[in-house]
Amino acid sequence: MIRERVIVVGAGVIGASVAYRVAQQGAKVTVIDAGQPACGASGHSFGWINASFFADETHHHLRVAGIEAYHRLLADLPGLSVTWPGCLWWEEQGEGLARMEAQLRDLGYPVERIGGKDFAAAAPAIGQAPDEALVFPGEGVGAAERMAAQLLDGAREAGATVILGCRAERIEVQAGKVTGLRCTHGMLPADRVLVAAGNGCADLMTAVDVPLPMLQRPGALVRTRPLPPLLKKVMVSPELEFRQDALGRIIAPSSAAHQADDREVLPDTPDGLALDTLRRLRALLPGVDLVLDQTAVAMRPVPGDGLPAVGHCGPEGLYLAVMHSGVTLAALMGELIAQELLDGAKSHLLTPYRPGRFAFP
Ligand SMILES: Cc1cc2nc3c(=O)[nH]c(=O)nc-3n(C[C@H](O)[C@H](O)[C@H](O)COP(=O)(O)OP(=O)(O)OC[C@H]3O[C@@H](n4cnc5c(N)ncnc54)[C@H](O)[C@@H]3O)c2cc1C
Repeated sequence: MIRERVIVVGAGVIGASVAYRVAQQGAKVTVIDAGQPACGASGHSFGWINASFFADETHHHLRVAGIEAYHRLLADLPGLSVTWPGCLWWEEQGEGLARMEAQLRDLGYPVERIGGKDFAAAAPAIGQAPDEALVFPGEGVGAAERMAAQLLDGAREAGATVILGCRAERIEVQAGKVTGLRCTHGMLPADRVLVAAGNGCADLMTAVDVPLPMLQRPGALVRTRPLPPLLKKVMVSPELEFRQDALGRIIAPSSAAHQADDREVLPDTPDGLALDTLRRLRALLPGVDLVLDQTAVAMRPVPGDGLPAVGHCGPEGLYLAVMHSGVTLAALMGELIAQELLDGAKSHLLTPYRPGRFAFP
């Protein structure tokens, strides 16, 4: 049997997850990245795996399927850096909280409402417990940098090759079919090319006449020095989203409600944002010795309408996968894209997100 030659451009969580699944199915996979694994958005992600944030009902179901896919992936790779601490949400009180609860219950999403006493017991480090909060018990976190490395290891074990420090320059096409990829190290022949290059996707796609508008969505992520265990769950307060990672660091996007942040430029310098984030964290966690360790700035990969862009497009053999909430969706994308790439299957879950929608805006 002739093995399909598949090149995956991008070794972030999406490229790594697809490479893992495609290599498992027996294709001859080569992953290339201009830098190191997870050096793009994945390495600077908050890593919250959730379906409580969503654009519409269909998008919510995609995210729920994303959570379910992680449980299958974990059965395959039990050491994958994903945990399920759940989320404590008190971004709004009163009517706002009741609306959120009713909306999620209507969608069949697991949600519990707790009062101030239970909140204080669940999160004693928080200085002032709110009157009420919601718990989303099925939500998780993924250490995206570790995950990308682990998935690439899994892909290598299944026979994939990973080439780092190698930039894709052009997709080669003959008679309407992909024949390979021109990159800084020369020409790599291929039957199929998956472009999962985050914010690097648009340049590669435009060159083969596939329109891909991308939004400018910079984000800053603040990490403190490690602390003893303080917080179990992902915390979503009105001021800030934050959590404690496996190393004990408190990590927080500088923007409150960061997944809904639609600013095109950062509102301050990275230093200014870090100080402001620390100030808000100190108010939430009084008496905790919070020392800034690192501020990272990264561009979120967000297609023009805010939704994922996933599917075959342009010349035969070309496939695009770019999205925000890529940590939430990585396991699912690995499964669905491997099927679509190799078996010609069409997933109904991906139908609303085809890149062709940008051709006739
Ligand atoms: C501050 C912040 C917080 C976030 N929080 C969350 C969250 O809580 N939950 C969630 O689900 N998502 C979150 N996201 C979004 C999530 O991190 C991204 O959607 C996800 O990491 C995208 O993964 P990716 O593999 O598509 O892209 P990336 O991780 O950006 O990887 C793309 C890779 O392609 C490579 N590349 C680019 N161009 C080329 C080229 N021409 N040739 C070769 N290689 C190339 C890059 O070097 C990079 O390694 C957050 C993002 C940010 C920035």
